Amino acid sequence: MHFFDSYLDRPYHCAPMSTTRMPTRVEPYRLAASAERLEGDLPLDEMPRLADLIGPQTGTCHAVLTFGIDAQRRHYIEGQAEARVMMPCLRCLQPMPVTLDSSILLGMVTDESLSSRLPREYDPLVVGHDERLDLIPVIEEELLLALPQAIYHEEGECAVSRDELSSGELPDEQVTTNPFSALAALKDKH
Ligand SMILES: [Zn+2]
Repeated sequence: MHFFDSYLDRPYHCAPMSTTRMPTRVEPYRLAASAERLEGDLPLDEMPRLADLIGPQTGTCHAVLTFGIDAQRRHYIEGQAEARVMMPCLRCLQPMPVTLDSSILLGMVTDESLSSRLPREYDPLVVGHDERLDLIPVIEEELLLALPQAIYHEEGECAVSRDELSSGELPDEQVTTNPFSALAALKDKH
């Protein structure tokens, strides 16, 4: 998605930016000052909050991040994160593949209290001027927000038939292990 392109205060870089392999720890303000672009894969098994919500994951998340400074001197990170995860079907609780695709636009602030000054299109990212930033938790947060509230197998591919559903005889464990209540709580905070 490129719906941010219409913002007039967005800087446009004439020279092609160089792409560096994705490091996991970066100096975000320095990267923004030099308009760096990072691209690479981050391991999903190093994202514990994702595992808490949808179970252990293997594989990687492909991320492309552009760092920059806009016309109002705001330092930002813009980009995309895409990952294929396994997520439980809400009917049968068997894992099924889901592709998460997240558009990222983070405005860097040195203090939480400055977050409210950012324009609405920016999500605040609190990081000190001299701090290094761990990119994995940042990307993990974006993936968490991109998780669908609920997913189901196609009818006929699901282990729980429609007949069982309509009879209302769901085993108790399907209620108690529902991973989506935690997800809903997370999304409420945003
Ligand atoms: Zn199912």
